[in-house]
Amino acid sequence: MQATTQLIHSIPVDPLTGAVSVPIYQTSTFVQDAPGENKGYDYARSGNPTRATLESLIAQLEGGSTGLAFASGLAAIDAVAKLLKTGDEIVAVDDIYGGAYRLFTQVYAQFGIKIHFVDTSDPEKVFNAITPNTKLIWLETPTNPTLKISDIEAIAKIAKANRCLLVVDNTFASPALQQPLLLGADIVVHSATKYLGGHSDLIAGLVVTKDPELGARIKFFQNATGNILGPFDSWLVIRGIETLHLRVRQHGESAQVIAEYLEQHPAVDKVFYPGLKTHPGHEIAKKQSKGFGGIVSFTLKHDHIDAAKALVTSTQLFKLAESLGGIKSLVSHPATMTHKSIPAEKRHAAGVSDSLIRLSLGLEDAQDLIKDLDQAFHTSAAKFEAATNAHQQPASC
Ligand SMILES: *Cc1c(COP(=O)(O)O)cnc(C)c1O
Repeated sequence: MQATTQLIHSIPVDPLTGAVSVPIYQTSTFVQDAPGENKGYDYARSGNPTRATLESLIAQLEGGSTGLAFASGLAAIDAVAKLLKTGDEIVAVDDIYGGAYRLFTQVYAQFGIKIHFVDTSDPEKVFNAITPNTKLIWLETPTNPTLKISDIEAIAKIAKANRCLLVVDNTFASPALQQPLLLGADIVVHSATKYLGGHSDLIAGLVVTKDPELGARIKFFQNATGNILGPFDSWLVIRGIETLHLRVRQHGESAQVIAEYLEQHPAVDKVFYPGLKTHPGHEIAKKQSKGFGGIVSFTLKHDHIDAAKALVTSTQLFKLAESLGGIKSLVSHPATMTHKSIPAEKRHAAGVSDSLIRLSLGLEDAQDLIKDLDQAFHTSAAKFEAATNAHQQPASC
């Protein structure tokens, strides 16, 4: 059976009523037959049937044993970080998601947990950063916003040989394209806010483990810290996942077309998209993923913050916003938005130049999106020229 067929039918029809859609169990507690005797649920922090449906669905999609749903992607990351003790170390991808960077360097650092950032697109750099205290290797592939690719299988071998757990933040690829646990990773985390939810209408996070014991430890943290996803948002994520494969296929097809359009555009300097043969991670992405995803980044020949700002404020279909993975196309300018708090020097070193622009392709027709970019390039060039000329005019009075 194909993955999509299996997915759609793995969500059971409600055995009590025949409801085709998963019921939303909006309840805090469950009546017990006798003290300690219940129908599998006693209190909704510890377990809720709607959340449980989502949790088993994501476990199945990622090929893992345990799925867990949290209040946000960062809350999911936090639950995994709780596996660590004082003195433990993490080796992480150098362009890690900004919120994860803040969590590890400003919260977990307080508890004596160290993190080393390396360019994980070179597995040898991962190997060289491991010390006897390293407990976790943390990957994102593709990364944000420069879409660097790391070899999950190669790094999983390094992790295993050094008794570390490999965690992959699979938000950008989604399980429709990439299943890290099947490539040797131990834990997958997701911001379900993005492709899994898919409609820019919720904040949610997920964790999947390969090993049930590891899953039980993280489930313990979920209950002990009260870090859970509510029943309605769980239902929204289930509803999003039902169309995941279809959406991700279209996002990817549009991304490829747009990346090729940008590559030949005279105003564009570099295009970052793993689906382009010129991308350094193209072959590895092809080996470990079924597609290259819906995010495309590019820089302008005129590498200036104002040139980028003029462009991102000239699109009409692409809405200027942070986040990604929804049905509406979004455009963002990392240097003044998501990466604003990173000092310019460090930002440049990570490849996020002043003019870097990130697109999250939605489900609009790709040709309409190209027309929108075309008009935005024209409008913004005129805007930028006018501003520069005004600046250069000698004062007349
Ligand atoms: C958005 C995002 C997160 C954080 O998820 P939230 O749901 O916003 O808390 C983590 N990792 C990646 C790669 C993301 O894009």
